[in-house]
Amino acid sequence: MDEQLLHEHLQKHFGFREFRPLQSDIIRDALAGRDSVVLMPTGGGKSICYQLPSVILDGITLVVSPLIALMKDQVQGLRANGIEAVFLNSSLTSDEKRKVVDRINSGSVNLLYVAPETIFSGSFISFLQSLKISLIAIDEAHCVSSWGHHFRPEYRKLNMLKEIFPDVPTMALTATADRVVRSDIGELLGMNSPKTYISSFDRPNLSLAVLPGQKKWEQILRIVRRHEKESGIIYCGSRKATETLAEKLQNYGYSAENYHAGMTSEEREGVQDRFIQGDTDIICATIAFGMGIDKSDIRFVIHYNMPGNIESYYQEIGRAGRDGLPAETVLFYSYRDVQTHMGFIQEIDNEQYRKIQTAKLNRMQEYAEAQVCRRKILLSYFSETLEDDCGNCDVCKNPPKFFDGTILAQMALSAVARTNEKIGVTTLVDILKGTYSKSVNENSYNKIKTFGVGRDTTAFAWQLYIQQFIQQGILEIDYKEHYNLRLNDLSRKVLKGETKIKLVSYEVIKERKEEQKKPAMKKLDLKESINESMYEYLREVRNRIAKEKGMQAFRVFSNESLRDMCAQKPVDMQGFMEIHGVGEYKAQLYGMTFLKAIAEYQKGKSQGDTYKITQEMYAKGKSVSEIAKERELQETTIYSHIAHLIGKGEEIDVMKLLSRDELDRIADARKEIKDTTKLKPYFELLGGNVSYGKIRVGLAYLENNLFWDHSPV
Ligand code: ADP
Ligand code: ZN
Repeated sequence: MDEQLLHEHLQKHFGFREFRPLQSDIIRDALAGRDSVVLMPTGGGKSICYQLPSVILDGITLVVSPLIALMKDQVQGLRANGIEAVFLNSSLTSDEKRKVVDRINSGSVNLLYVAPETIFSGSFISFLQSLKISLIAIDEAHCVSSWGHHFRPEYRKLNMLKEIFPDVPTMALTATADRVVRSDIGELLGMNSPKTYISSFDRPNLSLAVLPGQKKWEQILRIVRRHEKESGIIYCGSRKATETLAEKLQNYGYSAENYHAGMTSEEREGVQDRFIQGDTDIICATIAFGMGIDKSDIRFVIHYNMPGNIESYYQEIGRAGRDGLPAETVLFYSYRDVQTHMGFIQEIDNEQYRKIQTAKLNRMQEYAEAQVCRRKILLSYFSETLEDDCGNCDVCKNPPKFFDGTILAQMALSAVARTNEKIGVTTLVDILKGTYSKSVNENSYNKIKTFGVGRDTTAFAWQLYIQQFIQQGILEIDYKEHYNLRLNDLSRKVLKGETKIKLVSYEVIKERKEEQKKPAMKKLDLKESINESMYEYLREVRNRIAKEKGMQAFRVFSNESLRDMCAQKPVDMQGFMEIHGVGEYKAQLYGMTFLKAIAEYQKGKSQGDTYKITQEMYAKGKSVSEIAKERELQETTIYSHIAHLIGKGEEIDVMKLLSRDELDRIADARKEIKDTTKLKPYFELLGGNVSYGKIRVGLAYLENNLFWDHSPV
């Protein structure tokens, strides 16, 4: 099928103008009956690869997916675009199942989503054989490999599909980047020399930063302040943490909710819906959150705790900035997280699996501690290379400076030696700083010679330096003995002064913090580029439609589509069809309503707004005539705006408009005339040399400043 025709289908059914990289190649392969393995990062646009062929091909596209929640979501999304899709899984009652089967038999269904266990239950296979299956898509295909951590035994049996339907093209899709898993997929699913498509995992719009896991709350506040009224996710390692964090944020006036697997499914669905619709800005969640969430304007993802491997981490940060606009990601890193993961790993019975997980944890830790471009590390993990440093990670923004840290190292090492290697990092910092902590008091560490020698360095800096000592191998952690610190041969050399130690300057961290305090410039650009009040207006329209139809708001139009409407302000159906996410079906359903709303907004530009604009321009120091000229309004109108604002108690600097003398004269006239509803008597009484506009503003001012007459000059 030629490119032109494919584009038409993409536009018609999904409202997208362009294919993302590889999509059209993958689709053409499927249409030509070839097998393929598709590796794309989360949010890369895998679904279209089989959804688009499903509307072109005769018959049914069978989609195997292990995620029941996601299935429902996808089916709803497709139906909102007018594409017939159904799903079968264990969540349906037998009555509902029967209805679905009826619909399938009626021949109108394009896509059938099933859970793998459904395929192998009862007589399902023979039911499938009775249908015309034109394409098989196996989503989350990495579940077939026992090397990954999402292995599902039922997936192993999926190779049967290829035996039963040898001529039906099969597409395996995954966001997994694990090399071993990748190489397994095609073979385990019994595919016919499939073509492998690997799209770049690079997401240059995501900024990357790792911050020390101390005083996290203060740092989080700083981050969320940078993203006022924007969506974000904070991933936490424990349910409890999600709850406390959400509550704290609420106490600070942020719209935040928590989400974890311990909540009922209704509760979770509610949280998810409110987040997607933009009613809740911040979700504090365990990793249970976010799978299959189709929200493209997430502006930040924070990891309160470090994940156990780079795949999970990359998948989670990948939920930010799917719209391609700048998004911020921050990982808090502390030893405790490594220790927690180590604890879990120790409990794994299977030795080989335990080793893999340990190796993965090591890679994650190395990443967090790295002093080279972080994106380079991530991409190299996914077998990609980045020629130049990315410029959008914390290391690139603040390349490390080294200094001679031998003396600091000697202080730390000798403290460890003098406590007979019985302390962990926290107590070591206490000793160096001379802090009378519980553990110091209990063990009389205040008596040892090194107590307080490192007073001049902050505890924060000490943590970072000790971290580097461990990375450089002059201190070791004994995982079996309460994570106590141990010395080795190398440490003894340092103590004797035989080896020098280089440290990354604490300044780097400080600079990093300064950087954090600066408002994000890009965000401002984004904000100013669209009209926020128009956006709000269209959101209301959308939410009303959703309510009337009993649909989720984003199914009507995503926020992204609304933003595009604000930017493009279409005036007719042609223009409306150009909007991101608007296909024929949605255009027919909602086009007129939104076109009308856009026109109304343009015409009305609600009164409140026009005052605000005047106020802002005036506050910036523009004169009335300048404002009038720029806004193409009469000067008298601008004066009336200012009078109105004064009346509403807004802070307006009147003295820029009126001299003290003029104001006095208006005040005198007011005493005489009393009636303030007509301006002409004032104009005449003042001899015609104070303009109507000034009189108007002056009267409004006097109305609101009863003591003008008595105020000192
Ligand atoms: P994945 O399954 O790879 O995680 P999705 O298929 O859910 O990703 O797509 C992610 C987002 O990108 C969705 O919002 C989808 O509508 C959007 N998308 C996919 N393809 C395109 C395209 N060609 N143009 C614009 N948006 C697209
Ligand atoms: Zn970088």
